[in-house]
Amino acid sequence: MSFSVEYNNDELYMEKVAVKEIADSVGTPCYIYSHSTIEKNFNSYLNSLAEIDPLICYSTKANSNLAILKLYSNLGAGFDIVSGGELKRVLLAGGDTSKVVFSGVGKTDSEIEAAINADILFFNIESVDELHAINRVAISLNKKAPIAIRVNPDIDPKTHPYISTGFKKSKFGIEIASSIDVYREASKMEGINIIAIDAHIGSQIFELSSFNDSLQKLTDLADALIKENINIRYIDIGGGLAITYSKDETPPSMEEYAGIVIKHLKGKPYRPVIEPGRSLIGNAGIMITKVLYTKDGSEKNFIIIDAAMNDLIRPAFYNSHHEIIPVKQNENETRTVDIVGPICESGDFLATDREFPVVAKGDNLAVLSAGAYGFVMSSNYNSRPRAAEVLVKGDSINIIKEREKFEDLISGEKIPDFLSK
Ligand SMILES: *Cc1c(COP(=O)(O)O)cnc(C)c1O
Repeated sequence: MSFSVEYNNDELYMEKVAVKEIADSVGTPCYIYSHSTIEKNFNSYLNSLAEIDPLICYSTKANSNLAILKLYSNLGAGFDIVSGGELKRVLLAGGDTSKVVFSGVGKTDSEIEAAINADILFFNIESVDELHAINRVAISLNKKAPIAIRVNPDIDPKTHPYISTGFKKSKFGIEIASSIDVYREASKMEGINIIAIDAHIGSQIFELSSFNDSLQKLTDLADALIKENINIRYIDIGGGLAITYSKDETPPSMEEYAGIVIKHLKGKPYRPVIEPGRSLIGNAGIMITKVLYTKDGSEKNFIIIDAAMNDLIRPAFYNSHHEIIPVKQNENETRTVDIVGPICESGDFLATDREFPVVAKGDNLAVLSAGAYGFVMSSNYNSRPRAAEVLVKGDSINIIKEREKFEDLISGEKIPDFLSK
């Protein structure tokens, strides 16, 4: 799987743009995304699954910049949303709400109301309480809410515990064994229209057997529901396909993944809905940064960069690996270094004990596979303005999010009168 950048005469390029040119004109840290990679990844899902006519609902939380959502919308994608805020983003980007599915364990009444009024495709219901809430809100609006029940198939996706969601002990979904009863209950509700079943077992999944087991349980359940005259028209199989973070990892190919999905769903009366995030955009983006200082200690050597855990939290949060490469390739000897940010936390690193070529103050580095769960998880910790975001298309550099200013950070903050004397 490509990382969406490559060296050309020792200079790193994304499409036809030298990454250095973006670092110089936009500044660092900065996220940059490749239009052609986004397009290619999306079409690869569509083409590999064409014979079962999938609806690809891009998982908005992976990267929810309006320009990115608009791009997916233009490609024909639907959207998987997990909040009212994401619904507003999809609406602003001109997304087709008849292709929106709404997941998440804590939907509020006002979020439910907004989604019903937007005529989304269906809600993925995660608890019996939520089913009652959606029924109540729908009746109050004189409408019927289309729903799936998100079942928890109790499958170990063999990924990081923070991104495993299909275990029995997980907070997500309803245990598959009791879901039939919940469907029966839902089928009697005036405000509810059952049309689908749903599962999402986790993220960054390498094991095709996990998808295989989940699909088997989903199709068995759907077939059983149909026998009870519960009208299942869609099977939403969630997202979760792994991508390459470390050079030596090989996630399943799209063909292998599609093969499993097709095996279970071909000839069935259900249209597949898929909710990929990471595998659509993860490798389409990188974060660029600049070396501020280098520092040699007796135990460790450090490269101190201008990007930090507030910009990309995955290494600190999940202990995840991101490849990091110099923007200008060099033949320098390598040494073992920690690549760290300026934040006052020991967890503020992007790499530890990494063999890395010698670089100097002012050099730019590229952190790869940063297109998903990168900018969207960033924060202002240590009063650091969030990075800029750029969409590269061919030879064009398009700023899709301005770098934050200090004024943005303090907006809404107030000092009460009693303190101002
Ligand atoms: C996060 C999430 C996804 C996307 O997962 P990826 O691993 O990025 O493909 C899909 N569905 C739901 C319900 C999610 O929470």
